[in-house]
Amino acid sequence: MKDLYRLLPEEMEQLVIDMGYPRYRADQILLPLYYKFPKNLSEIKQLPKKMREELIESGYVIGSAKKIHQIVSEDGDTTKLLLQLTDTSVETVLMQYNPSKIGGHPRSTICVSTQIGCAMGCVFCATGQMGFETNLMAEDIISQVIHFAEILQKRGEHVTNLVFMGMGEPMANYDEMIRAVKILTHDRGFGLGQRHITISTIGIPSGIDKLSEENLQIGLAISLHAPNNELRKKLVPTAGPHSVEDIIDAGKRYFQKTGRRVTFEYALMAGINDSPEIAKELSLLLQGNGSHVNLIPINPTAGDFQRPSPESVSEFERILSNAGVNCTVRMEKGTEISAACGQLRTDVDNLAK
Ligand code: SF4
Repeated sequence: MKDLYRLLPEEMEQLVIDMGYPRYRADQILLPLYYKFPKNLSEIKQLPKKMREELIESGYVIGSAKKIHQIVSEDGDTTKLLLQLTDTSVETVLMQYNPSKIGGHPRSTICVSTQIGCAMGCVFCATGQMGFETNLMAEDIISQVIHFAEILQKRGEHVTNLVFMGMGEPMANYDEMIRAVKILTHDRGFGLGQRHITISTIGIPSGIDKLSEENLQIGLAISLHAPNNELRKKLVPTAGPHSVEDIIDAGKRYFQKTGRRVTFEYALMAGINDSPEIAKELSLLLQGNGSHVNLIPINPTAGDFQRPSPESVSEFERILSNAGVNCTVRMEKGTEISAACGQLRTDVDNLAK
């Protein structure tokens, strides 16, 4: 089975030429794929019947991921989908920001997964506790976006942002992740603006450097969670080979190469990494490098870890801001529908037992 969502527009063109058809037939496949979301080749009526049959005979299909579960949060702002792939399932989340509630522009952000499970083993993360299962293919990543794009289109809305913050470490599945990004941002593909995409990594310097060479204007978020190596190794046990300093340097190189400001994600856990002393240590580390810190009071369902009090979050933020470190606090959306990565799948797996 070969999924047409896997092909870059240039590869689609080569496919139709190799089949003996004119180049323009590629766009007659690409346009419906990314704007009409057909479920099978017979729905692409612009193509000659013979060509559709030849594609089917050659094993081509359209988007093999099927929706098996959908949950919407009480406020309607967060939707989670569980999609069935050939021999596993993947979760994906849509977070909508309503300007009447928070100001700014309306946003429909999709949070995609790049792996099933994750080998990084972060102690506060449901996915990390599952361990690594498998890498997703580019078409599986694209399918997550397409399912939500179709839902949004029916409401007269569209995907505005995409974050690679679901299950898995994107840099550990680099080739498939970057293929998906190139198709999703291609003007003959899904056509999402590069600046509307953020890749979130636990901090793998070689992957960050590789990404900076791609000539893409995508955002980078590095999950730091600790200002020193001793604490970081406790929270991210696989962080060993990469010191906090190595990771910060890789972020600086990314900024120098792309001009895109790097965001450092910092999950705040009560009594673990939220003290004023640690805030001072973090501010010294990041002072003057132009980066941004996103403080995320941890989801209360994350294992044994507790969300800090609003007072300690404010104090942590105040110390960073006073030191000149640009900083915001992000409250996790959709906690009541298991929005911590990996939780929906875990919940559904538990239901099936
Ligand atoms: S937080 Fe991210 S990198 Fe860490 S285990 Fe979870 S999915 Fe993997």
